[in-house]
Amino acid sequence: MELEQSQLRAQQAEGQLKHLLAAMTIPLKGKDALLDQDLLTLRSTLQGSQLNDLKPLSESIQHKIRLLDNQREKRAKSMLSSILSWLQQLRQVSDKATAEALLEFEQRGHDAVEQTWQLPELLTDMIDFQQPMMDLASSHPAASSELSNEALEGDSDLLLQRISVEVLGVLESLTVPMSARRQLHQVGEQVEKGLSLNQLPAVLNGVRGLVKAACSDNSEEFEVYLRTLSAKLTEVQHFLSENQREEHQAGASQLALESQVRSDVRRLSATVSGTHDLGDLKHAVSEQLVGIVKAMDDLRKQEEQRDNHLQRRYGSLIDKVEQMEQETEKVKVHMEEERHRARTDPLTGLPNRAAYDEHIAHELERWSRYQQGFSLAVADLDHFKNINDSYGHLAGDKVLRLVGKILHKQSRNSDMLSRYGGEEFVIIMPGTEVAAAVQAMEKLRKSIASSPFNFYGKPVNVTMSFGVTQIKASDDLDKLFARADKALYRAKQNGRNQTVAG
Ligand code: GH3
Ligand code: MG
Ligand code: MG
Repeated sequence: MELEQSQLRAQQAEGQLKHLLAAMTIPLKGKDALLDQDLLTLRSTLQGSQLNDLKPLSESIQHKIRLLDNQREKRAKSMLSSILSWLQQLRQVSDKATAEALLEFEQRGHDAVEQTWQLPELLTDMIDFQQPMMDLASSHPAASSELSNEALEGDSDLLLQRISVEVLGVLESLTVPMSARRQLHQVGEQVEKGLSLNQLPAVLNGVRGLVKAACSDNSEEFEVYLRTLSAKLTEVQHFLSENQREEHQAGASQLALESQVRSDVRRLSATVSGTHDLGDLKHAVSEQLVGIVKAMDDLRKQEEQRDNHLQRRYGSLIDKVEQMEQETEKVKVHMEEERHRARTDPLTGLPNRAAYDEHIAHELERWSRYQQGFSLAVADLDHFKNINDSYGHLAGDKVLRLVGKILHKQSRNSDMLSRYGGEEFVIIMPGTEVAAAVQAMEKLRKSIASSPFNFYGKPVNVTMSFGVTQIKASDDLDKLFARADKALYRAKQNGRNQTVAG
């Protein structure tokens, strides 16, 4: 029957919907421990043939969305109060023009309470604004009269202390994704140890990156996604209870018809046995047959109506399934992008420390399982501090980008190059013995040394030192790295711009 077919299709759609709903919960894993529990229950509920009441789950998930909202607002407020007090500190020791600009930043800060996505841009602008002061103060401490006022000369220690307190405040208020936790920790430690004017730009840059990571923690997107999930849950719930009701109704009508037909037939047979007149009998039979036909007709009409209704619902269900497919795909792509971003160094575009950590873990695993050897090189720019000090931090950044490009261009595709941190790069060379690794690194070293770097028309020497080592039995990650680092240290001791194996 058509009705049965529609029901079958609806059941298939329901199965698909359940499957998709289960798939939609996967990207949410690991965001929140309590939510994980709900999602686990949801997934196992969806696997069951009979769906239980989804309402409590849906409510529980909605409750967590509200909690997330509150948390986000609290975080933003506390981060912002640190930034505002940071600005006020600076304003007190600034000249008039600077103070005005800072006031403008404060205004933007107030706006950002409601719109947290504005924070990274605000910080970026603030840091860019401070950069000339910092550069001037750090490269010519004596001549810093115009841009860096008395605060940067006399009270610079005090100012630095205040800034440190505020930076720590900002750091404390951040909730960053896993991939940025180590960096958060490092920046925090550096600030706690005490800042110098020289370090300030790098630290502020770090803070900027972290705020960006925290804000793009995709929590907003995540919340939207949770909302969608919760709405879909309600839809499935609704669809199921409707279906149940209709099935029940269809069953009841069928039963009613059967009992009516049965009693009609009983009456008919009573008529047949009690009547001897053929005319009466004919009349009675045809009357009762009309009754039966009408009852069947009614039932057919009811079925037709239900069938139409089911068709419509089936159509809208298909639309919803398609919508969910698209949403799930979007989230998947987004998560992939996030993953990539979390593993990329924004300055050079190379894989970052997190990517290195992941890669070296794989490499070690291959070594311990299949004895597939590899070499590791640590490369560090020579006297890089001088470049920063003489030409400013921005010039230093430019050198880092260029060096990253040269290293990338000159290294083999099978090698994994990453910016480990600061002016330090690490290269993993699979299937390479130490002698070959030294040769490969010599090629990189020579390329750097012979590349022309110019600042303001003046050629500047940029060189790099390399420490290379090969994986050995009983090595662990720390031992291996320490050996490469030690070799690098010897390269520095021996006069830099060279490769040493260890
Ligand atoms: P050596 O030859 O012994 O390695 O001397 P060095 O001056 O390179 O070493 P040191 O560790 O004393 O200084 C490294 C400098 O690198 C200090 C720090 O400010 C700078 N630096 C680290 N990260 C960055 C960055 O992202 N951009 C810029 N411009 N400088 C950075
Ligand atoms: Mg160096
Ligand atoms: Mg270094």
